[in-house]
Amino acid sequence: MLRIAIQSKGRLYEESMALLEEAGIKIPGGKRTLLVPARNFPVEVLFLRDDDIPESVASGVADVGIVGLNEVMEKRCPVGILKKLGFGKCRLSLAIPQNIDYQDRNWFSGKKIATSYPGILSDYLHKNGIVSDIHVITGSVEIAPGIRLADAIFDIVSSGSTLVSNRLKEVETVVESEAVLIGTDSISPEKRGILDELLFRFDSVQAADDKKYILMNVPQKKLNDVLSVLPGIKSPTVMPLADKEWCSVHTVLDEKCFWEIINRLKTAGAEGILVLDIEKMIL
Ligand code: ATP
Ligand code: MG
Repeated sequence: MLRIAIQSKGRLYEESMALLEEAGIKIPGGKRTLLVPARNFPVEVLFLRDDDIPESVASGVADVGIVGLNEVMEKRCPVGILKKLGFGKCRLSLAIPQNIDYQDRNWFSGKKIATSYPGILSDYLHKNGIVSDIHVITGSVEIAPGIRLADAIFDIVSSGSTLVSNRLKEVETVVESEAVLIGTDSISPEKRGILDELLFRFDSVQAADDKKYILMNVPQKKLNDVLSVLPGIKSPTVMPLADKEWCSVHTVLDEKCFWEIINRLKTAGAEGILVLDIEKMIL
């Protein structure tokens, strides 16, 4: 069995479970215990606080883990990033009170910075030759400047709304983070095989994530116009319809690209456009 550590509750829990499910791995719900074997795949899930995941993988308690890159960097554990997972996106940034006239990062020299990420912050300051006073607090870092506990903060930002409501502004982005699958080299050949299968399934889920399958009806005489709008790399399927004057065109598109070309497809003569989600794509 391959043991995979995931966050027991919190921001990464739902999407970690969803990823396993989309990869066809059924984790029984109901009574939640620390360690739950999957019903149909040689994997067991170890539910932990995210702080403990890097260490659990480094020490071999778990074989792999799903955790924020920010936690991996902060804990400085000897683990490798096997795969970026594309969810839990956020950044670690320095923020200061809005009313300060900020020129560059030298502003932080001699200042007191509150953070829950002293490791990443001290590396960053050291690299930039800045000496500051790092004040470690575990929760509600963003209120520190308001209560004069610190001059600035170094914290997780996603939308930035928490900063705004505390009258802070983001001035330096230090790390871009997302959920990652971590592991080590010291894994048995048997477990390696299970892991390879898991990675293959994750790849297939991810490949499908931002893709759409689109179908449309096109008059035969407009077919070339429509095909010229579709991105060149993909070769669409063209099928006859009962009405000889019409055909059906099917293709796979990036979701982003779809929104750009939808109006051009209509202008070119496509009708009855259907857009479907793709569950998996085997590359
Ligand atoms: P735990 O109880 O497991 O220790 P936690 O409170 O430390 O949980 P969460 O707030 O659940 O952690 O966040 C988990 C991870 O989600 C973060 O480490 C980060 O990688 C990611 N994340 C994404 N967006 C955000 C955000 N807006 N705020 C905080 N974390 C975020
Ligand atoms: Mg935590």
